[in-house]
Amino acid sequence: MKKDICSLNYEELAEEIGGLGEKPFRSRQIYEWLHVKLADSFDEMTNLPGKLRERLGREYEIPGLKAAAHQISQEDPTEKFLFELADGNMIESVLMKYSYGNSVCISSQAGWRMGCRFCASAIGGLERNLAPSEMLRQIYRIQKMTGERVSNVVIMGTGEPLDNYDNFVKFIRMLSDEHGLHISQRNITVSTCGIVPNMRRLAGEGFQITLALSLHASSQEKRVRLMPVANRYGLEEVLGACDAYFLKTGRRITFEYSLIAGVNDRPEDVRELTEILRGRNCHLNLIPVNPVRERDYRRPDRKKAEDFKNKLEKNGINVTIRRERGSDIDGACGQLRRRHTAAK
Ligand code: SAH
Repeated sequence: MKKDICSLNYEELAEEIGGLGEKPFRSRQIYEWLHVKLADSFDEMTNLPGKLRERLGREYEIPGLKAAAHQISQEDPTEKFLFELADGNMIESVLMKYSYGNSVCISSQAGWRMGCRFCASAIGGLERNLAPSEMLRQIYRIQKMTGERVSNVVIMGTGEPLDNYDNFVKFIRMLSDEHGLHISQRNITVSTCGIVPNMRRLAGEGFQITLALSLHASSQEKRVRLMPVANRYGLEEVLGACDAYFLKTGRRITFEYSLIAGVNDRPEDVRELTEILRGRNCHLNLIPVNPVRERDYRRPDRKKAEDFKNKLEKNGINVTIRRERGSDIDGACGQLRRRHTAAK
């Protein structure tokens, strides 16, 4: 099998290319082709001798990421991409343009296995982990296809990044590396359902990325019902890991809370949420749940969501409602992939 050249970091590539008997500047050229000029093939690397390009093509591969669908929203500046991996697996990514820059939401696994009740990606189960190159190249392809420079990255697409820990951490290092796209770690957010041991490990990586926790419920009992993973890592433990992350990194935690009508939008939820979050340096992001065809969860109406937010605000919680993007293009997690694979 050919080696995935795009998953090698700067030092690893230098070693590898040195091992072929090439001078160090060749490795620098190749790294630049892969991670700055965003080449999709060795043929594009025109400042390399033909012989070397041939050899690279024989021994290495740049993992394919074929655009299987590209949808542009009519409602807001949002674009959705469905990419086909070399082995036929499908993943999705989203580009959202904001006044402060362009943000890309990427997938970290093909499918996932945490089984959250409201999640479209959980329906098919986990196919496999993505390599660092497959995470990087979602951003590279989008930048190339749209001509837009990407300044922010959120790892909130399909998959649980902390269930693919080593590849994820390598991806963050390569994405923020000065030899590559050099995206500021402060502009990167990772969302987790709460894999406690790896949240604690992440706190020790020396990163400046934002950690977002999928909270979704205000008590252990309610959380378990929505998120089976809470059976393994209880609410207390998860909040403890968030505190540890904040203490170690100084980065304020984001809590994500999908509002589901009649399930977690009641007055008692406001009370319990306030108890949990007051005194924590954090930000609460309310996301009216996106209806998924296979599930019967509904979102509260606009006024109810506003009420929920206002009550929390009065209680001193730093809270916002996430503005919806791309609902006309299956913008929400897993929906485009789900429709595509179900239609086959
Ligand atoms: N596995 C990670 C990241 C992927 S999901 C995690 O669990 O955090 C990104 C966010 O979207 C999570 O907060 C997830 O709970 C939420 N989400 C999933 N399905 C949703 C839906 N149908 N409506 C609203 N939010 C949803």
